[in-house]
Amino acid sequence: MTKLTRSGYAAIAAIVAITSFASLGAAGGEVNLYSYRQEFLIRPLLDAFTQDSGIKVNVQYVKGGILKRMQEEGKDSAVDAVLTADIATLRQHVEADTFQAVKSDVLAANIPAQYRQPDGKWFGLTVRARVIVHSKDRVKAGAITRYEDLADPKWKGRICTRSSGHVYMKSLLASIIAAKGEEGAQGWANGVKANLARKPQGNDRAQVKAIWQGECDVALINTYYIGAMRHNEAEPVQKEWAASIGIVFPNQDDRGTHVNISGAGVAKHATNRDNAIRLIEFLSSDKAQAYYAGSNYEYPVKPGVAWDPEVASWGKFRADDTDLWRIAELVPQAIIVYDRAGYR
Ligand code: FE
Repeated sequence: MTKLTRSGYAAIAAIVAITSFASLGAAGGEVNLYSYRQEFLIRPLLDAFTQDSGIKVNVQYVKGGILKRMQEEGKDSAVDAVLTADIATLRQHVEADTFQAVKSDVLAANIPAQYRQPDGKWFGLTVRARVIVHSKDRVKAGAITRYEDLADPKWKGRICTRSSGHVYMKSLLASIIAAKGEEGAQGWANGVKANLARKPQGNDRAQVKAIWQGECDVALINTYYIGAMRHNEAEPVQKEWAASIGIVFPNQDDRGTHVNISGAGVAKHATNRDNAIRLIEFLSSDKAQAYYAGSNYEYPVKPGVAWDPEVASWGKFRADDTDLWRIAELVPQAIIVYDRAGYR
């Protein structure tokens, strides 16, 4: 698609708006996505978008390598938008110039300023917190209140985490660098590493399973997995895993709990640019936000959308309001800190 002038874009946006009012499902066309997010999390939402808009959504679910692929494909890339599960990935895409700026009044209205870039190169769609969980039986409630506690030698041999190579671990450490500087963060990484009950391994849920099995007593996990385990009808044993843990929102008396976002950006060479924007607008709508809240146990990014009762049952919490873009900027430093700690 050739570049449209500002007025040309406005005219098209107006036509799109009229079409969607006139008859749902009539707009047609398609949109091509690369997704770092797992299919089961987003497929129902994409189907709802197709029902509303008539726009077919083609998705390739790729764990890694999306950025490299887009760089190699360059102008020939057929991808229109990318869905990610972390701010650090969004930043990598922006820095590699694989996203384009998007101006949307809908997105500006739905998404608070701290969860989107002013020039519209990325948009947060859901919020999640990275919390500490502990064995209900073997750890007293209140024994851990801060991320810093995990580095205390009294927890030697009792902590499980996933690999530091995962972006959730990198962003958490980046938030600690932002709060305590590199030296403070190094002390933390060294301390937690020394307290590990086993070599870092498995995904977030595997840490809870390890607590349930008695392999360790304390772990880190993103909040939505707690809801997913508690309501897992397909694999009910996960309800037992989840029942064995207590949840701590760390650092409530100081900087708050580290939060991150899932989000999206429009591909630089999108051929279905308008459809990509419509999709992201849909994902920020009340309907989609309520879905994220109810089925994925995430925190809606759009103010005023109710939390799921499960999520609400964990209580309100104070979130670390460190600029997410800054946290993403510190991720390369976090990788070095983990490396120096021998934390793999
Ligand atoms: Fe996740």
